[in-house]
Amino acid sequence: MSVAAAAAPSAAPRTAPSPAPDRYAPAGRPRLRFAPSPTGYLHVGGARTALFNWLYARHFGGDFLLRVEDTDKARSNEASTRAIFEGLEWLGLTWDEPVVYQGANVARHADDGARMLAAGAVYRCFCTAEELDERRAAAHARHETFTYDRRCDRLAPAEIARLVAAGTPYALRFRVPEGTTGWNDLVHGEIAFPNKDIDDFVVLRSDGTPVYNMAVVSDDIAMRITLVMRGDDHISNTPKQILLYHALGAPLPEFAHLPMIHGTDGKKLSKRHGATAVADYQNQGILPTAMLNFLALLGWSPGGDREIMTVPEMVKLFSPDGLLRKAAIFDLQKLEWMNGQHLSLIALDDLLPRVVPALVAAGLATTESLAARPDWFRALIDLLRVRARTVLDIVRQAEPYLRDVIGYDPEAVAKQWKDREGAASLLALTRTKLAGVTEWTTAALEPALRELAESRGLTAGKIFQPLRVALTGLTVSPGIFDVLVMLGRDRSLARIDAALAYLR
Ligand code: GLU
Repeated sequence: MSVAAAAAPSAAPRTAPSPAPDRYAPAGRPRLRFAPSPTGYLHVGGARTALFNWLYARHFGGDFLLRVEDTDKARSNEASTRAIFEGLEWLGLTWDEPVVYQGANVARHADDGARMLAAGAVYRCFCTAEELDERRAAAHARHETFTYDRRCDRLAPAEIARLVAAGTPYALRFRVPEGTTGWNDLVHGEIAFPNKDIDDFVVLRSDGTPVYNMAVVSDDIAMRITLVMRGDDHISNTPKQILLYHALGAPLPEFAHLPMIHGTDGKKLSKRHGATAVADYQNQGILPTAMLNFLALLGWSPGGDREIMTVPEMVKLFSPDGLLRKAAIFDLQKLEWMNGQHLSLIALDDLLPRVVPALVAAGLATTESLAARPDWFRALIDLLRVRARTVLDIVRQAEPYLRDVIGYDPEAVAKQWKDREGAASLLALTRTKLAGVTEWTTAALEPALRELAESRGLTAGKIFQPLRVALTGLTVSPGIFDVLVMLGRDRSLARIDAALAYLR
């Protein structure tokens, strides 16, 4: 302690009291992984799992790794691996070490099997697939669940030696001990399975390839994973995996099993509920930050009723404490609403690169035409984003400002120009008034139009609504003065002329 501090014992502490220790803070540097099986595309559930692992790693200053579980060659392919990378990159879920391909590690998986054989944790099983199928069918015929009867574990050593010498193929089976296998799940708390319910499972097939649980554990040990966070459809794999850790003499990681994702009807999320591929949302104009915010709330709550968060805020707030057990509900309307919030939240400079290609694709502009009026264009998008839920909404709303000639939305015509004569005469009056305004700014336009309304004994809306249709063809738009300013004097007056011609 410094002399000065020692001399002022009664003063308030100079440093803030250290925060209460986070009971979930990991002991060492955490290492987490996302381990997708590349059998199609990055789906919403996978992205959620990736995000939670990433958030944990970023929050606690650990590593986030990516492992492609491509041992099932028949179902894995390069295109789906690429789709997963692209999805993660779009979301910004960066990984910290080179990608691990499970299929490249089969030699280690086999070595680990051999180590367990030497240690007596597994035994050779010479039963053929046909024999096992027959016994399985017989068990089913008796309405019993098939369990391996351990007959190969009872073979005499001499018999085993003879079979091995004769080159008889064998698988390696785990000798499941008595007792129970459990863990303290970060989401679900204590979970335990009686070992009698765990069959002596195969770890290496007779062709030397690992089964799923063997490959996962061997890789997680080699990658020094400290927390395995994944969907709770993997809970039933966990006791077998724990037995493998023990048999391989490796320290156990922690486990966190995230709740399933359901649609708003309470059923497991499927294509019936809408797009399940992350890329589809990308194509629909959802922002990655909104997608991340939405995914973050599928099984996690930052506490209170807080919903809208930036990525740095999510990283800061993320805690296993807020992981939820009950199924998460995937509500598309909520995603769109969130996207609207994020459209207003992100820096305009980050939004423009997403809007420009969409406008070009819609044939509303070229990169050159937009670059010719950068300030005007920025102001326009800044104005439109407030009322938009998606980038495509912005494109739809931008049309009146980017086209020379506009069409009129039939609904707008029916509603605001129902009395064609009345609308035309109001528009004509409005035109005269506007033409007399010398300075084309909100400050000058607003009093002029309000004065007109007053002099006619009308509410301002009676003037604004038909004018809005004339200027934009739509019933909804930014504030009428913003519209006038964005269009400029000449185009605004020309639009009113066109509307008058249409009405008369
Ligand atoms: N490859 C598994 C899956 O896609 C994940 C395995 C794990 O996370 O342990 O469901």
